[in-house]
Amino acid sequence: MLTPAAALETILARVAPLAAEQVPLLDAVGRVLAAPLVADRALPAWDNSAMDGYAVRFAELAVGSPLPISQTIAAGHTGDHPLAPGTVARIFTGAAVPPGADTVIMQEDVTADGHSMTPTELPRAGANVRRQGTDVQPGQALLPAGRGVTAGDVGLLAALGRSVVSVVRAPVVTILSTGDELAAVDAPALARGQIRNSNAWMLAAAVRAAGGVPRIVPIVPDDRAAVDAALAEGVQADALLTSGGVSVGDYDHVGHALRALAGDAFGFWKVAVKPGKPLAFAMVGRCAVFGLPGNPVSAGVTFELFAAPALRKLAGHTRLARRRVSAVLDSALPAAQGREIYARAALREVDGVLHVDPARTQSSGALSSLAAADALVITPPHTPARGAGSAVQIMRLDIEDRVAP
Ligand code: AMP
Ligand code: MG
Repeated sequence: MLTPAAALETILARVAPLAAEQVPLLDAVGRVLAAPLVADRALPAWDNSAMDGYAVRFAELAVGSPLPISQTIAAGHTGDHPLAPGTVARIFTGAAVPPGADTVIMQEDVTADGHSMTPTELPRAGANVRRQGTDVQPGQALLPAGRGVTAGDVGLLAALGRSVVSVVRAPVVTILSTGDELAAVDAPALARGQIRNSNAWMLAAAVRAAGGVPRIVPIVPDDRAAVDAALAEGVQADALLTSGGVSVGDYDHVGHALRALAGDAFGFWKVAVKPGKPLAFAMVGRCAVFGLPGNPVSAGVTFELFAAPALRKLAGHTRLARRRVSAVLDSALPAAQGREIYARAALREVDGVLHVDPARTQSSGALSSLAAADALVITPPHTPARGAGSAVQIMRLDIEDRVAP
């Protein structure tokens, strides 16, 4: 059976970042730059004052010697250029320093009467002047392609006058739930045997977090013709996530239907992972299709392991899978046989060291344990049981910490 690492490698080899699109500046947050940001101008564009004070020629300053104030320059104004020799300019933070001045003495270091100012303490030569281009030089490479745009980046883009940004298109992801037992989240009352379609909402939330645009489609019954039709429609997106019906039971049609639809582009149907052994992947045209198991925990964990990195790659990210870090085990973990186990666990930090406590129930139907999980503890195949205090590898779910594959 395919290892999780080999399955992810297969998936990532077959998806590529989507094309670029232009979006308004604020819509770039959380999206990925399609091209590097290169400065087309200097920041600051002109020398300006870092303080409220007086723009001076440093060589003319002496403690106790008054100098007349020849002009006043507020932020947004340029004053009467240049600074007349033997005089100073009253200046405020962010105002353009007049030609001739080389230093700003801050107002706390002078006495002044409105007509002249007298230094009580001398600044360093050149102090309190933010020189043109000291922040950003024209032609400077500022941000690489593949970078997830942050609020700080938006500030930089705005300062450079970029009101429109070229980002990678966000993948549109169909979310298709199969199962005769499923009812809508807002169905007024459920018959015995029915459950709410929680997977669709969980997966939609996870798709958003991965940078995709979820499209939940109507519940599909456990009927081969209905599954065929829904898959054919669902692949009109950049990715398709199905949940349920991917095992080998009499009513599990997704695997067979996907194999028929994908033909030669069918990838795999089983991965040596727990939770989640039945897990299908195929490319149908340009659509990456993930047949996720129906059990909520299995669907959530396999999404995290396999679909999230793929959606992030489609969305242009270069850091795709969560980083694996080590932690100390706080309670025992059973041995692994042939499958790699991902156990839900609570995380805490003790004196800067991460500790994990695996959930008591690792049942793949236990949604409460998935909601409570801060981390997944990884047990590679054929690992013996481990006791409290052992060092283990984990994936944190509580932070976004990802690495390039
Ligand atoms: P399946 O993979 O179709 O055999 O389903 C496995 C288990 O997951 C069953 O208990 C289903 O009722 C449950 N399940 C399947 N689909 C969903 C869903 N969309 N939301 C919540 N639970 C589901
Ligand atoms: Mg089912």
